[in-house]
Amino acid sequence: MSLWDFPLSHGDSRFLSVRIKSRTLPQTVLLEGGSETQRHALALELAAAIVCTGDGERPCGACRACIKCKANSHPDIQVYTPEKKGASFKVELCREIRQDAFVLPNDGEYKVYVLEDSQAMNESSENALLKILEEPPNGVYFILTCDSRAAMLPTVLSRATVVPLLGEVSAFSENTVQIACALANAAADGNELAILRESAPLEKAREEIRQVLLCLCEIFAAALKEKSGGEMSVSAYKETVQTLAKKLTKQKIYALWQATQMLIASAERNANANLLLTSLCYRLRQATEN
Ligand SMILES: [Zn+2]
Repeated sequence: MSLWDFPLSHGDSRFLSVRIKSRTLPQTVLLEGGSETQRHALALELAAAIVCTGDGERPCGACRACIKCKANSHPDIQVYTPEKKGASFKVELCREIRQDAFVLPNDGEYKVYVLEDSQAMNESSENALLKILEEPPNGVYFILTCDSRAAMLPTVLSRATVVPLLGEVSAFSENTVQIACALANAAADGNELAILRESAPLEKAREEIRQVLLCLCEIFAAALKEKSGGEMSVSAYKETVQTLAKKLTKQKIYALWQATQMLIASAERNANANLLLTSLCYRLRQATEN
């Protein structure tokens, strides 16, 4: 198995392999999308590459560290999975990880924490973890995995380098991106009429509402990241993200993100589509008010 066997974009495969080779992998990586099995395998592959002591391609598969990885018994790699699907990581566990991260590694110079299904974290757990993600000790790495970055707190997202796995999760359609960008721009101007106008196509395409909301969420999260000087990996809505970052304060972008999260929750509870659209206009407008 090598990095090139995973469904990554060419750019991302290259990025990861160059950073592994030069031992400059970002300390927090978020693997998003693909299937659970793919995310799990890639997380372990990256963890092995971090602790591998080989000189050439890492993981070399032959050094003592790699042999322990293959046996799932490397003492400096910890893998955490929520107890059951969709369950939350407990805040105590996140605090424990935070403390443990300051303990020196057993074997080599590196420690890796793999947190699978991290979209299942609640806000207090994410906040507990955030403290360590902000300033991880030297040699400590975090590999988080999730279905979609839209479910992560923007504060956590802004600390992580997101690597999307292609494949099973389909990207947003061109139409979805177009509507979401128009809505984001209208919200940035605080123009309620424009928000109404841009959301009009959704009256006839109700099944699109949730997709548009998820896309909006990504746009706002990316704008927050842009504000924090992070690298951006998605280019389909790059211009909109830059406009938002230029026009709005961090607090307002965050308020927009929160409003969108609430709307997604309503959409998932099968709220009435007309009410949903009305509340979309209202909430997006309200988020940018002083
Ligand atoms: Zn090795």
